Amino acid sequence: MFQSIHFNAKPRAVTNASKPEVLGKLEQIVGAANILIEPEKVEPYGADAVKEKFPPEAVVFPETTAQVSQILKLANEFTFPVTARGGGVGYTGGAVPVDGGIVVGTDRMNRIVEISPDDLYVVCQPGLTTYALQQAVEKYGLLFPPDPASYKDSYIGGNIAENAGGMRTPKYGVTKHSVLGLEVVTATGEIIRTGGKTVKNVVGFDLVGLICGSEGMLGIITEATLKLLPMPEATATVRASFKTMKAACEVLTKFTPEGLLPMAMEVIDKNCVGAIEQNYAFGLSPDAGAILLVAVDGAKAQVETDARLIEQILKENGGFDVLRSASKADEDKLWDVRRAISPSLMKYGTLKINEDVVVPRSRVPELISKVEEIGRRHDTFVANFGHAGDGNIHVNFLCDRDNADSIARARQCVKETFALSVELGGSISGEHGIGYVKAAYLDMAIDQPTLEVMKGIKRVFDPNGILNPGKMFV
Ligand SMILES: Cc1cc2nc3c(=O)[nH]c(=O)nc-3n(C[C@H](O)[C@H](O)[C@H](O)COP(=O)(O)OP(=O)(O)OC[C@H]3O[C@@H](n4cnc5c(N)ncnc54)[C@H](O)[C@@H]3O)c2cc1C
Repeated sequence: MFQSIHFNAKPRAVTNASKPEVLGKLEQIVGAANILIEPEKVEPYGADAVKEKFPPEAVVFPETTAQVSQILKLANEFTFPVTARGGGVGYTGGAVPVDGGIVVGTDRMNRIVEISPDDLYVVCQPGLTTYALQQAVEKYGLLFPPDPASYKDSYIGGNIAENAGGMRTPKYGVTKHSVLGLEVVTATGEIIRTGGKTVKNVVGFDLVGLICGSEGMLGIITEATLKLLPMPEATATVRASFKTMKAACEVLTKFTPEGLLPMAMEVIDKNCVGAIEQNYAFGLSPDAGAILLVAVDGAKAQVETDARLIEQILKENGGFDVLRSASKADEDKLWDVRRAISPSLMKYGTLKINEDVVVPRSRVPELISKVEEIGRRHDTFVANFGHAGDGNIHVNFLCDRDNADSIARARQCVKETFALSVELGGSISGEHGIGYVKAAYLDMAIDQPTLEVMKGIKRVFDPNGILNPGKMFV
């Protein structure tokens, strides 16, 4: 359905006959070396982590903001769809051109413009991986806190557009909490700058907050000013097993009264524990109904004190097999269990539908027991793990990719899990976003008047609907 030439996103648009002219103009803008049109070369740009394929008609790699602006002006003139792409590891098809048109790859906009250790910010282009950025600022003893598990592949532009989270969210927040300023080319090709180089800045509307999480639908981010912090001297992790998920999650509220703010609190349910143990034989207890990992960071002596206190709290609240890291190598070993989850689960199905619902963290046990019930009712294996500290749980339904009935049952589980998350005071996505994959469920989480405001904002930024069509509002 999406294979045909789509340089006509809107009825008033030009016909296929314009394609050579459009391609010629794109080549003039970015140069012949920065455009791909051969089917085998554009194909990889038609998929992300969802792995469904919608190849674009061309991929361009601008090197400057001015080029991005010219591309978007051309797209408005000829009304063809444009989809921005970062590392292409999104989980909701955000970077996939479902309505055809062109992909704007940000790979060649990968420079660090400025690092200011005195003012604690870095200015960079969007095509840099989170890992490369972290490596660069680490040389100055600084930390860029957002740490999605995809940090080696995902780009800063993609992380901002998805407002990505990570393990360190309980202490440091999500990506938007580390963005000070942005340069964005709106869908009409206007270059706007919002925010700045200071933490405090209340002049005008908070467009930084609006662009964070806008999934490439309002504009293309061409430069970001990001907040940095001093790199903590040390980290430590404590891992414990619990009889039940309820017991594991109840501990989460015991840290604050002791003056503790762990940077990460991750939970793993019994189905994951069973799968990991079968695959890796780490020696996890068969009595483990859940595993909790708690990590702290800060000055070395304080980290040591905090980790001991956490160990004590976990033991006093039903934790068993409690292990506290004494070195970086120890810590890595404790986290191996967490890293082993995804490969271990593939034993239970050839297709893993990984959702990322979020609820207030006190409701996590209820979420998980009700999700298990949903899985049982639809004869679908379900495994839960994730960011218990902020209530963002990866609910995984395993099914058979060659069996339509198995997939349909898993999809029904997803729908009921979304409804459940909203009912528990949460929402349908904590970090992966909506893209095209969850677009049909958006109104389960957002009421109609609010949706209308969002659509109005989209129209202001993108009156011709050329930027990332087929996403979010469908
Ligand atoms: C193994 C794995 C682990 C993951 N772990 C996490 C995790 O811990 N936390 C988390 O939040 N997510 C996680 N994700 C999901 C994904 O990595 C994040 O959503 C990430 O931020 C996507 O970045 P990207 O550069 O790959 O973006 P892409 O997939 O390329 O694009 C994502 C969206 O951003 C838009 N976009 C990209 N660049 C720009 C730009 N310059 N301007 C405007 N819009 C742009 C695209 O149009 C698209 O809508 C994981 C994914 C995988 C495969």
